Parts: sequence; C-alpha cells; structure tokens
Amino acid sequence: MITTEEATRLVMEHRLPLQTIAVPLEKATGSILQETLRADRDFPPFHRVMMDGIAYRLQDITENETLIVDGLQHAGEPPQTILLPGHCLEVMTGAVLPGNADTVTRYEDLVFSEEEGRKMVRLTVKPEKKGQYVHHQGSDQRAGVALLHPGAVIGPAEIAVAASVGKTHLQVSQPPVVGIVSTGDELVEVHETPQPYQIRKSNGYALQSALAAMHIPAALHHLPDTKEAVRQGLDKAFAQHDVLIVSGGVSKGKRDYVPEVLEETGIRKIFHQVRQRPGKPFWFGTQDRKTVFALPGNPVSTFLCFYRYVAPWLRAVLGNPDASPPYAILSEEVVFEPDLTYFLQVNVQFTSEGQLTAQPSAGHGSGDFANLLTCNGFLELPADKTIFRQGDCYPFIAFRHL
Ligand code: AMP
Ligand code: MG
Repeated sequence: MITTEEATRLVMEHRLPLQTIAVPLEKATGSILQETLRADRDFPPFHRVMMDGIAYRLQDITENETLIVDGLQHAGEPPQTILLPGHCLEVMTGAVLPGNADTVTRYEDLVFSEEEGRKMVRLTVKPEKKGQYVHHQGSDQRAGVALLHPGAVIGPAEIAVAASVGKTHLQVSQPPVVGIVSTGDELVEVHETPQPYQIRKSNGYALQSALAAMHIPAALHHLPDTKEAVRQGLDKAFAQHDVLIVSGGVSKGKRDYVPEVLEETGIRKIFHQVRQRPGKPFWFGTQDRKTVFALPGNPVSTFLCFYRYVAPWLRAVLGNPDASPPYAILSEEVVFEPDLTYFLQVNVQFTSEGQLTAQPSAGHGSGDFANLLTCNGFLELPADKTIFRQGDCYPFIAFRHL
C-alpha cells in the first residue's frame, strides 16, 4: 500500500493539456488568468489632483499673501493653464493638474475672500512640499509594464487592474469536463423519504458544491451496485466527461465493482489503497486524457480525498499549482496507533498572537459527517508517529476559508 506522499506524487504527475477560454470581465472572478496584462498607459495616466482645493505654483505663495482664483478645473475636463503669476485654479479630486501648477492645497487649509469683485484665497497651512497632493503621471507604473501574469487567481484587485487597462474579456483556464458518479443501492434521492434501511444521497452534492466553489461545473450521475449497471454507467460517463469523480464501490464489499469495471474498461490503475485514514480504499486511474478519482463512499472519506488530492490536482490542471498547505499548531495531545497517515478533523483559528492553532474535533470517526460542520479542515498527522504532542505543527488541509 502506498503512502500519502507517493499518492500525491502519482496524482500530480498526471497532467491534462491546459485549455483556455475568453470570458467577460464580470464572469472572470475566481478563474485563473492565462494571459499577460500590461499597462496600456502610465498609472496614473496624467498628473492627478488628489484633493478638492486649489492648484498653484509653489513659488507664487512665497511671493504673495493671497492668490487670485481664476476658475475651476473639474475631474474629467481637459486641463486648463494658469496664465499669470500669483493666480490659481480651484481643482477637484481626479482632475488633471492645470498647466503651470505644481502643488495642491485642500479646502480645509484655505480661506476665501472677495476683493474688488475678484475671488481671492489665502493658505492657512503651508504646503509640506512642492507636489503636495499631486499623484504624478507614471509614478505607480509605466505604460507597457506587465502588471499580471498567467497563473494569477482573478479576484477584485485583478478585476480592477484589468478594467483599468481596457480589458472587456480575459483569457482564462478552461476547466476540464468533470462528471460525478455516486454509487450505492442504499441511496435515495434528496426529495424521497428513505426506508429505514436507506439513506439519502449526499456525496454527489458535496462534491458538486466543492467544485462549484472552484468554478468547475459538474454533472451528477448515480449507479446501482450491479456490475452491468456500473459498466454501462461508467462507459456512458466516460463518453461525456474527461474527469470522473466516483464515490463508493471501491472497497472490499461483495458489490464494490468500481475498480474491476474501470480496469476492464481500459482505465489504467495507477494505485488502489493509500496508507491513510480516512480514505484508505482510494483508487486512481488514467487513460490518455481521461482521469478517474474513485473515492470511498464514506462521506468523510470522500470529503477528505477531494480536498487532499482532487482539488490540488484540479488547481494544477488549471495552471495554478497549489502552494504548500499552511502548518497549524496542535492544541492538545493526540494518540493514533495504526500505521497510517491520520487526517484529524480540526477547527483551526488564529490566536491573538497571530498563530494558527488546531483544536481537534474528532467526532465519532469517518462515518460522522455531521461533525464536519464543527470543523474547518484536516490536520495531516504522519504515519510514522503514534503520539502527536501539543505544540507540534502539521500541515492543514482547509475546506473553509479561515
Ligand atoms: P462504499 O464506499 O460504497 O462502501 O460506502 C461507504 C459508506 O458510505 C456506506 O455507508 C454508504 O452508504 C455511504 N455512502 C456511499 N455513497 C454515498 C453517498 N453518495 N451519499 C451518502 N453516503 C454514501
Ligand atoms: Mg457502496
């Protein structure tokens, strides 16, 4: 049986060719950028006034008590020019700095008056320096500079920059076509009332939701536990999808037909069983561009295998390889004897000292998936240890934002 490290390596070794697609800016959030975005103009593109007030030449206020106000320069208007020494213009935030001006003083530091029908202004506070409240052209970025690179996750800041450089559409990674196949004779639809010996399907929906959070649409299918139905169902699912995430039917049960059917269908088994709990019966196989993650049906196993293996693989396929997981500090001693990597359900929080601490929230084992409601991830406790001490640090696999 292979280790979690070996399983990770084998999964990550298998790559699909990256496809890209253009999406409108409004729909790009959460996608992975696949082009370089350059500044089409300087940032800012002109000397930009940063405060409502007046613009003037600094030299003029050393020579004059008061300045004569010639007029007003709004944002969005072509720039005016101050024509005479000792004169100034009122300016609004976002306006172009008028010609011959070099400094801005805000209204809070000004007193206006009228002399012989002319508007005058006096500064109550000396400017700190020439260029005060002027955001100079090109001071943030120069035209032509690459601002964003392929692989960037598109969030609000990326959207703001893309909009500023005139991109109505962005070239982003196109997700592979993913299908989810749950299996099991004991499972009924969500809207049905189960018999006492039945349960409602939940894994397919959990996987679909986790994929939706990654902006990957996925169709749901369900198969009963007969070999023929599994064969036909998987054949059909393969014709429709590039990546299949199967739940259930991969263990040692008399009706667990998924591994043998997959192999009979021509999918090459890369591994079956990983030295871990939960999720030991995890099966992984590939065929050209087809990829199958067959996860044990136990809801916590399905959950763990998705976040520990499938999600990082999908991110890598989309061109955004996962950074290594953060480490969290175990808040109390945990003992786990089997020679398996143990994925402990934990509730991780930042302390007031800015450290990530992981409080175990083990629940009643891998069948207790309601316990996931009390956790935000799994702490990966290595197989080669039995006692995990308070204060030790281990990788944290999150399934919620902290
Ligand atoms: P299996 O891996 O098929 O042996 O299933 C292991 C356990 O997970 C059984 O108790 C199943 O009833 C349960 N299970 C399997 N698939 C699902 C599913 N889609 N939703 C909820 N529970 C499931
Ligand atoms: Mg089953």
